[in-house]
Amino acid sequence: MTDIDRRTLDTAVRGAVLLPGDPGYDEARAVWNARFDRRPDVIVQCRQAGDVQAAVNAAREQGLRLSVKGGGHAYAANTVGDGGLLIDLSSMKGIVVDPESRRARVEAGVRWGELDEVTQKDGLATPGGTVSTVGVAGFTLGGGNGYLSRRHGMAIDNLQSADVVTAAGRLVRASADEHPELFWALRGGGGNFGVVTSFEFGLHEVGPQVLAGQIVHRLEDAGKMLRLYRDVMAKAPDEVQCYAFILRVPPIPEFPEEFHGQLAVDLVVFHVNPEGEDDLRPLLGVGDPILEFVQPQPFTAVQQAFDAGLPAGQRYESRSHDLPGLSDEAIETFVSGVGALPGAFTLVYIGAGGGAIGRVDPSATAFPHRTAPFSFHIMAGWADPDQDDEVTSWARAFHELMTPFSTGGVYVNLLGTDERDRVRAAYGDNFERLAAVKQKWDPDNLFRMNHNIPPEG
Ligand SMILES: Cc1cc2nc3c(=O)[nH]c(=O)nc-3n(C[C@H](O)[C@H](O)[C@H](O)COP(=O)(O)OP(=O)(O)OC[C@H]3O[C@@H](n4cnc5c(N)ncnc54)[C@H](O)[C@@H]3O)c2cc1C
Repeated sequence: MTDIDRRTLDTAVRGAVLLPGDPGYDEARAVWNARFDRRPDVIVQCRQAGDVQAAVNAAREQGLRLSVKGGGHAYAANTVGDGGLLIDLSSMKGIVVDPESRRARVEAGVRWGELDEVTQKDGLATPGGTVSTVGVAGFTLGGGNGYLSRRHGMAIDNLQSADVVTAAGRLVRASADEHPELFWALRGGGGNFGVVTSFEFGLHEVGPQVLAGQIVHRLEDAGKMLRLYRDVMAKAPDEVQCYAFILRVPPIPEFPEEFHGQLAVDLVVFHVNPEGEDDLRPLLGVGDPILEFVQPQPFTAVQQAFDAGLPAGQRYESRSHDLPGLSDEAIETFVSGVGALPGAFTLVYIGAGGGAIGRVDPSATAFPHRTAPFSFHIMAGWADPDQDDEVTSWARAFHELMTPFSTGGVYVNLLGTDERDRVRAAYGDNFERLAAVKQKWDPDNLFRMNHNIPPEG
């Protein structure tokens, strides 16, 4: 980028234009997954939709590689490009809640913790994720599944409208009434169709207290606890969510010292109703738990409970499968496949689908995998670059071991760093329709730093 190009951008945007070496440049290009340390030629720190339009126009007109950063938490690190122009949305923090209509308009740089904090002031929430530092933008554009989703649907099921800067630099609103096909594609199709500058969500009465906690057992009891988990979730009301983790017991005072660092199975339970203990009872008081801690607590605290365990700036890899069920054989493979669970921040888990997620037709939004009752996810995390080969090989091998038990489908937001060949599987029967929307709104594939849907299909 020449000085003249920079001056043109500088005058066109309200936010900062940063070049390598400028104060704030390194912070603006940083992402959660430290394996990816990429250096754009220029970063536009957008403050408003007009800044996004100016940046998109500059990238298109000058043939610059364009990348877009919301919360910077993509597992696949397809957020920041080497060279080219980065649109950094992290300064766009506006949140407007209307408690009467139960709607919130949320700008694209907001993270889940920031949104929950504001909506909870009115006892309201919209389904977000299980880690509060994740960005609302990338999460929602891929689908968005969390503690509230069995009760209130995925983030996309609560999306009422989105403001989008298109590849042509136009600012349009997409909703059921305006550009409905674009709106369909935005609900799961990722960042392929434009830069979303704000989202409008429906809100629900949630909290301030919910029932939540952890039920932790020794690894040798993992098979028994996972079979129980499967049977309980098959009958659980929509208000209940439960993730079955295998992890290392953290060295914190809540756990008896003798178990610190040991592998264990951890049922992370959640009930929208703080008095919903009866629904969780079948999981309580079983055998000889290492820890059983389930009690009413603030919704915002539950949303942050995993933040410290998955800090930004470490090295991460992700692998996932949707599962058509949890046979005894799948459970045995899951438990034995964990092996040494390498990586100080590594977790593996099974999550439950169903409820409101499954009541939406698979073709109603771009997210097609509505009926999978369970999913399997490896979140491998480690600090030392010398461990890259060991941990990523382990994750790939474990993932392959679980392949025979999968539907073949996968949630796009959980794809790993080198899984371009699985984008079709992520979109299933909706892929061709998405390619047609891409052809209409971004025929030259300006927005390609993402799980890309090529315009030609
Ligand atoms: C610790 C952790 C916990 C997670 N927990 C959950 C969970 O509970 N449930 C769940 O469903 N997912 C979860 N995820 C996955 C998460 O949904 C995705 O990683 C998501 O893409 C992150 O969004 P982001 O805005 O933070 O990321 P970014 O890296 O900023 O963006 C992700 C992608 O979206 C594009 N993008 C971002 N903003 C925009 C925009 N405004 N317009 C157009 N394109 C844009 C980016 O270019 C990039 O390709 C988790 C991820 C992490 C790292």
